This record gives sequence, C-alpha cells and structure tokens, in this order.
Amino acid sequence: MTPERYQRIRNMLAKRQTDLTVCLENVHKPHNVSAVVRTCDAIGIHKVHAIWESRYGIRRGTAMGSERWVGVDTHQNVGDAIRALKANNMQVLVTHLSDEAVDFRAVDYTRPTAILFGQEKYGATDEAIALCDKEIVIPMVGMVQSLNVSVAAALVLYEAQRQRQNAGMYQIQQLTEAECQRILFEGGYPVLAKVCRSRDLPYPVIDDRGQIAADDAWWAKMDINTSAFKSLLNA
Ligand code: SAM
Repeated sequence: MTPERYQRIRNMLAKRQTDLTVCLENVHKPHNVSAVVRTCDAIGIHKVHAIWESRYGIRRGTAMGSERWVGVDTHQNVGDAIRALKANNMQVLVTHLSDEAVDFRAVDYTRPTAILFGQEKYGATDEAIALCDKEIVIPMVGMVQSLNVSVAAALVLYEAQRQRQNAGMYQIQQLTEAECQRILFEGGYPVLAKVCRSRDLPYPVIDDRGQIAADDAWWAKMDINTSAFKSLLNA
C-alpha cells in the first residue's frame, strides 16, 4: 500500500472508540444496516453488535460486513447481546419512544456505552427494554411518530462523538498495536490476508511506511503464482 494510504488508515485507527458501540436488534433492511454501519465508521466505532432473529425473516450477513472497517459481533438473542455488553462494563441504552425515556442529549456518552436500536416496524423488544439501563428518545414534535432508524442512529452517535471530542477522547489511541497490525494487513492487503487465512499462515508485520516486513521463509510459504492471485482477486 502507498505511504499515504498507510497514514490514512493509521489516523483512522488512532481515533477508534473501542468503548462505544451500537447494537442492532433485528434491524433488517440492508440500506438501513449499511447506513448505520457507515455512520459508525464515520464517528470512530470499531465494532457493532447485531441480533438476527429468524422470526423476523432476517437474512444473516445482509449488508453487515460490507463495510470493511467496522467489525460485527452477532448474538443469538438480545438477552445474550445485552449481557455480553454489560459484562464489558458498558451502560446499555435503548432508543425507545416512551414516557420513561430521557432526552438523548441528557446522557453521558463519555462512559463506556452501547446504544440499542430496534427493528424498523416494531422497535426494540420488551425484553431489550427491560434489560437495558436507560431508555433514551429523540424528541418528536411533528406529525410523524418516529424517525428512520439510521437517522436516529446518526443523531445519537454524533451527540456521543461531540461529547467525546470535547473530553479529548479522540486524542488517545484505544486500539492495541496488535489489533492495528491486523487491520492494516487486512485493509491494506486484502488478497494476501485471504491467502494467509486459507493457508493458516501468520500475518506479517506492516512497517511504518505501510510495507510488508516479512522474511524469505514467509514469502516462500505464500508461494502465490499469477493464476492463483487472479482467482483470489475474482473470488
Ligand atoms: N413503532 C416503533 C416504535 O414505537 O418503537 C417505531 C420504530 S422506529 C421506526 C425504529 C427504530 O428507530 C426504533 O426502535 C429506535 O431505535 C429508532 N428511533 C426512531 N425514532 C426515534 C426517536 N424519536 N427516538 C429514539 N429512537 C428512535
């Protein structure tokens, strides 16, 4: 990869907020999922969580994962997801239009935080609402009852981003160097990363110019000829 691309990825990694995430509960329209993941990338979220319950007719692996720079953890059910997030010491907020909900701007997002968004038609489930720490709402004073889920996510996430920016949280790198190296290789050399995974080879180090720093033995194990390279590119 070019030094410029390397620097761009490094700058992105330095700002990733590992203690801020979203949880999508049965959000199933691909364009909504894509839009939320795109906003997550834009504000520096490293990984999102998702629940795909079959009774909602959701296809696993829909647009999630199409965004190369944001990871996805999937959970069997919303209870598992919320318990896992709480086990990581996160406050779990549920976006919900109710009288109990507090204005989304009145919450401290500098704390480790997960924000749950509900299904397009039905919203968050009763189970999710019961398990979450707090309900938050974006005030609505017009005729429509609710916002599109991706619009709601963008509003809440940019409030979180604003608070974290003011608190200097984008000045301190949260990702470990090992995780940065993984992303640099997978993002900068996706075809080679695929070969490594298929052959169970270790990833090489990426140096500070973005080049692969590997010895001859590693390159020999890669042993990739032109036709194999083309078929991987087309896979
Ligand atoms: N009838 C559903 C309900 O009452 O929850 C509406 C679902 S809404 C279209 C889909 C999701 O978008 C919600 O579960 C929530 O995550 C988010 N959302 C939309 N408008 C919101 C608002 N004003 N405040 C908080 N969340 C909102």
